[in-house]
This record gives sequence, structure tokens and C-alpha cells, in this order.
Amino acid sequence: MPIVNRIADFHADLAAWRHEIHAHPETAFEEKRTADFVASRLQDFGIEVHRGLAGTGVVGTLKGTRPGGRAIALRADMDALHIHEKNGVPYVSTNPGKMHACGHDGHTTMLLGAARYLAETRNFAGTVHFIFQPAEENEGGGRVMVEQGLFEKFPVEAVYGMHNWPGMPAGKFAMRAGPMMASFDIFEITVTGKGTHAALPHLGIDPMVAAAQITTALQTIASRSTSPLESVVVSVTQIHGGDTWNVIPDQVVLRGTARTFKPKVQDAVEAGIRRIAEGTAAALGASVELRYERRYPPTINSPAETETAAAIAAEIVGDANVDRELQPTMGSEDFAFMLQAKPGAYVFIGNGTGDKAVGLHNPHYDFNDEILPIGASYWARLVERVLAKAA
Ligand SMILES: [Zn+2]
Ligand SMILES: [Zn+2]
Repeated sequence: MPIVNRIADFHADLAAWRHEIHAHPETAFEEKRTADFVASRLQDFGIEVHRGLAGTGVVGTLKGTRPGGRAIALRADMDALHIHEKNGVPYVSTNPGKMHACGHDGHTTMLLGAARYLAETRNFAGTVHFIFQPAEENEGGGRVMVEQGLFEKFPVEAVYGMHNWPGMPAGKFAMRAGPMMASFDIFEITVTGKGTHAALPHLGIDPMVAAAQITTALQTIASRSTSPLESVVVSVTQIHGGDTWNVIPDQVVLRGTARTFKPKVQDAVEAGIRRIAEGTAAALGASVELRYERRYPPTINSPAETETAAAIAAEIVGDANVDRELQPTMGSEDFAFMLQAKPGAYVFIGNGTGDKAVGLHNPHYDFNDEILPIGASYWARLVERVLAKAA
């Protein structure tokens, strides 16, 4: 497979960097050691380094040997998860309760590998920005970077992202134009009734019965009020209420998450949750308060950049190993915020099968070192091809 030879030459360095990052996982907005590591590698390569966006964010800027006003950005994430690692590898996490269980150690390393190669060769026209973002998990570090002026400071015509995918064989890529990952919203419904003796329900208003009916009625959003051709998930994941056997409490709290692919459907889901919660509670004499938060928008790839990404992936691993019609997943990704600001493409790179098929966010997950030069080669060729000409 035609990975870049020069990158294959320093495969051992890439693995060593990945293990160094893996052994010292840091969670949202606390990626200080990781950011220091990234910044000092970039400086070693002779790349201009900017720090401080979203706190621990690092951006490296490199110009090609040929002049040109065009620029693109490549993005990796640096954060780990609150998981206690159960792997027995020599580079196991040294921060108890924290772990690189989503492969962001590998993502950071692949982008560093491309940066090293591109800084040596600079065989392109214009500018590439290497974005290393904090807090992809839950806290939206990508959103914060965009809000703090990422693309005003570093103007680009497109931005590209990549995530490993366990279970997909090593040496394969997958992507699709349009929605690739879902939006991520959370909701909290506080159902208020009137507490009473459990044997005298007629003297109160039972929030338990109201909460139960709301929970089941919420399933009609996907099945009855959304077109069967659209994708919607509404999951109630918590029900909290009551303290003992014989008391009907005042309040019950429901919490959950909603996933969609289209802003219009997302609007309808939020409105539907409100309508069902308020209407069902009112029918039973109870009342509700709804908190609905839109965390991440859907990750939507632009068609032209997706085609480019697929062509580059095919150049590295062969056309037969690129799935251009990947079925979207209901997971979510804060690269979505960068894709709201700029055209671009987010792709999956196979992490492998067998023991490399262990799922993301699992305490036994580990990024596959074999794919480090594949991902780094994809990044490098993407820059050389997209920025082949000055205009
Ligand atoms: Zn993750
Ligand atoms: Zn991830």
C-alpha cells in the first residue's frame, strides 16, 4: 500500500510519541502536558506555533515552498476520557481514572507525523494549519476554538478531520457526503405534582404516573411525528423520584438525549418533547419544566471536499478500500462546529479487527499503532494534492 515512504521511515518515532501521549492522558481543557508535547514537536520541525485558543489549543502554521494565497486546515483532538484503563500495555495510563479510550492519542500523533513530513518537504503552494484541539468529549473544545476566532486568525478554504473506527479493518477509510454523525442534544424534564400518602392518591397529584406516561409518549416523536425517512433517536436515560414505599413524591426528574441529522428535524424534536411533556403533564394535573440544550450539531460533510478526501484515501489504500457511502452513525462529534464554519470532510480510518475492534470508550480499547503511517500519509497527500496549485 503506497503510504509515504519517508513517513514509514519514522514509524517507530510515531509509535513512541503515541505511547508517550497515551501514558499521560488529560481530560477536557486540561491538556497542558499534551499541548506542550505537541508544541515542542512542531517547533522541532520548524513550524510556527500559536497557543492559547480554547486554553490548551495548539495551531501550527506551515507554508509550502511555492507561493500561494490558499490555505487549508487539518484537525486532531487531544483529550482523554474519565475511564480507568484496563489494558496491560507498557505505556498504560499513569493518571488513574483517565484514559485515551477514543484514540485521540493516535489522532494527535498522525497529525504530528504529517507535520514532520510536510515541514521537511514543503512540496505545496500556500499554507496549511495544523489544529490540535482540546475537549472533544462532551465539552465542545472545537466550538470554543471557533468562537474564539480560530478561522479569523487562521483563514482557510476548507477544514478536514479524521477519527479511527474500531471493527473497520486497518487499511480502510470510510466517509460520506452530507450528514455523517448526528447532533447531540440533552434534555431534563422536571415533573411537579403534589405529594401525598401513597394510600390516598386522590389527595395529591402523582408525578410518577405523569413521568411514566411522558417517557412512553416521547417514543411517538420518532414513530408518529417524524417522517419514517428521517433518523431520530429520543432516549430517556434517567428517572429520579421518590424516597420510600408509601409516599407519592412532589417531583420526578427525567433526563435523556436526542439525536438527529437535520436542523429542521432537530427543531421538530425539541418542540415535540416540549409539547408532549407539557400536554401530558397538564392532562394529569401536573406541570413540567423543560431544560433542552443543544450540545453538538450534526457533522455534515460538504460534497466537493468529501470527494477530495475519498480520492486521497484511495491513493493511499486503493479504491477498493474506501467506502464512500458509509451509513451515518447516531454518535456525535464536535468537529461539527468547524464544519458549520467552513466546508470540509470528516473521515473514518479503520482501527482494525480482532483485539483492535474493541469499541471506543471501552476500558480495553487501544489505538492501533499500525495505522499511524496510513493516517499521516493521508494527511500529507491531502495537503500536497489540494494545495498543488497556487490558485
Ligand atoms: Zn470519544
Ligand atoms: Zn473521539
